[in-house]
Amino acid sequence: MKAVLVNPFQIRLVGKKGRIYNRTWTPLDLATSASILRAEGHDVSIVDANAEQLTSEATADRCAGADIVFITSTSLDRWQCPHLDLVPFLETTEAIRRKVSRLVVMGSHGTVLPVEILKQTQAEAVVQGEPEGAIQEIAKGALLSAVAGVTWNGPDGPVSNPPGKGVRMDELPLPALDLLPMHLYEYEVMGNAFTLFEMSRGCASECTFCLLDTYGNGVRKQSVDRLTREIEVAVTQFGVRTAYFIDLEFTVLRKQVMELCDWLIERKLPLTWCCQTRFDLVDAEVLEKMKRAGCTLIHFGVEAGSDRMLSKVNKGITMDAIRRGMALTKESGIRSACFFMIGFPESTQEDMVDIEEFAKELAPDYPLFHIAAPYPGTELHEQVKKDPSLRFSDDSLFPEAVEGRFSLADWKRMTRRAYIHYYARPSYVAGRLIKGDFRSLWRQAKLFYNLVTA
Ligand code: SF4
Repeated sequence: MKAVLVNPFQIRLVGKKGRIYNRTWTPLDLATSASILRAEGHDVSIVDANAEQLTSEATADRCAGADIVFITSTSLDRWQCPHLDLVPFLETTEAIRRKVSRLVVMGSHGTVLPVEILKQTQAEAVVQGEPEGAIQEIAKGALLSAVAGVTWNGPDGPVSNPPGKGVRMDELPLPALDLLPMHLYEYEVMGNAFTLFEMSRGCASECTFCLLDTYGNGVRKQSVDRLTREIEVAVTQFGVRTAYFIDLEFTVLRKQVMELCDWLIERKLPLTWCCQTRFDLVDAEVLEKMKRAGCTLIHFGVEAGSDRMLSKVNKGITMDAIRRGMALTKESGIRSACFFMIGFPESTQEDMVDIEEFAKELAPDYPLFHIAAPYPGTELHEQVKKDPSLRFSDDSLFPEAVEGRFSLADWKRMTRRAYIHYYARPSYVAGRLIKGDFRSLWRQAKLFYNLVTA
């Protein structure tokens, strides 16, 4: 069977709805799925239209002649924060349907709203959650009624099968990086020759705004042995020099991280990397080892600027724990990127001041201020449905914000102000200029301009 896996092109630099910026990152889940299909004897290719910036028509042209196309609305790096504007994705599915008769949709949108996405894409099936198992079964020719985690059109209307068992990460083959345009991947704060790695899937925390449905239940990990084989191949055969461990809470698996770092230190690969974790999951020893192993940047979700709001969003951390974690990170010499969320139903004008003040106090290298999107499937979405004083900012399937005390325009104004107050300070600009990475600074300046004007 000739199968094509598609990562569609959805936005240029910054999408207006939700100020989501375009990451040219490896669609790792598609590369692993391609590997699974290839091992079963299928003729497989990947069209990373996002990396190649292909129009919907050009993407469809690249699919012509396929027996089946699997398209994702959110590749792995966007399972947690999917695009809010479905139009570009739907244009691509429509263009593909004109050329290929069998289309299967994957990603977070169909995971949380399978029937709606089945209808809107007119696909043969929508895969909910992790895609690897369902793709394999469908390509094998299994009846849709027998494929776990799939929604399809039965004789009497859409049918959603029970979810499958979570993917066993150690059983996944190495990703088919040879099918990807590896020269195009980059992360503006890490560099190019970039890829993603994934040590674990899922998160045990329950923040009200966080969309975890696509990851399946619980936290699952792969062995250091399999992961190091994947890293070795990516660096030595595909020239990867920078990477992001895209785990939701990388250091929750502390022992695993220490083992991985020991291997990286011993192996001396020319690789620098970043990861994402929580401030209460770092300590001096692990940070010191991560730094020696090539870690140059950690992403932390801070979200709020007061203990009251941290508790409201169920973050399970205090400001003091955040302060401690940041002090340790700075001592280690690893840079930090901190995410702050604006627009929770309980937020007041004072909370905005708190966020700005806390960002300045923590002084990360890169703070990012986002409006909290009430994704279907989250507690935040349920909160809006239950509380008559709240409403969605628009009536689409994926609204941009929660309105109540403040409107979307207010949230946007506050976000813009937070960016300007942080990044336009002479002390910040001078600090970056002294560090002397002008290329990276220029890329970030372009992104900053687009974020504040979107
Ligand atoms: S800790 Fe991070 S990944 Fe886990 S639920 Fe909270 S925001 Fe989501």
